[in-house]
Amino acid sequence: MTGSEELVVPGFGRILVIDRSCPACGDGASARMERTDTPKEWPLVRCGGCSFVYLSRGPDYTALFSTMAWERTTRVEEQSRAELRPYSYRLSKMTRWRMGLLPRNRPVEQIVRHARPGNIIDLGCGDGGPLNGLPEGYVPHGIEISKESARAAQKNFAARGGEVVNDAVLTGLEHFPKAYFSAAVLRSYLEHELQPRAVLEALLPRLVRGGVALVKVPNYGSINRRVMGRRWCGFRFPDHLNYFTPAGLRTMAEGCGYRVEFGLTGRLPTSDNMHAVLTRAE
Ligand SMILES: [Zn+2]
Repeated sequence: MTGSEELVVPGFGRILVIDRSCPACGDGASARMERTDTPKEWPLVRCGGCSFVYLSRGPDYTALFSTMAWERTTRVEEQSRAELRPYSYRLSKMTRWRMGLLPRNRPVEQIVRHARPGNIIDLGCGDGGPLNGLPEGYVPHGIEISKESARAAQKNFAARGGEVVNDAVLTGLEHFPKAYFSAAVLRSYLEHELQPRAVLEALLPRLVRGGVALVKVPNYGSINRRVMGRRWCGFRFPDHLNYFTPAGLRTMAEGCGYRVEFGLTGRLPTSDNMHAVLTRAE
């Protein structure tokens, strides 16, 4: 990251906006515009060095979540919010997703399929709902930036022996010991993260050998993205900061030391999302 400035956003007041270099390779000088029909304040660019597509500016969610009572905004009537404050409307939709109020595929089956029993961590765990139903032997933990959601998740996870840290993911990970988790859940999370590579690097040593990071992200390489153009459902400004293709995700994760597997159906070009299993091999 290269700098920051304060921006006044209707409905939210002043927020910190951070200038970003390439989240995959760190190159900040070679980016070119990827599209010109996207919001001017959130430029979508492609790295000239590694071809990764990303927003070259993004709001500092850490500050946003910690200084604002996000959950309160979800109680405002939706229609008027959509009309009057499109920005906060979109963000609160995201909050609702984080709180488990919007449909989200359950990751429990995937954990049981890929991970040994032990400690599990959900990065951006919301209120903990997605890990309901984990079988005996799997202990749920989480990191969550929203205070109220973290409190709800803590209540939920503590009853099963786990713990929730109310923090941004990158700093929250430091709270946990090395070789501690048999699986980490990163569902619809990495595309929002200001520093995805740093998070993957910090996570790796906290997995046990053979431990897995279960990733779900929008697939920027999908056919639908090419067909729909600007109207593609994966474009969200500025919620989605990082636009992964299967190759981009593989390069970033392998660069951090993971073994990367998509399985038979994990990176279908006909799907708007992709699923990968990142393994700590040694
Ligand atoms: Zn790059």
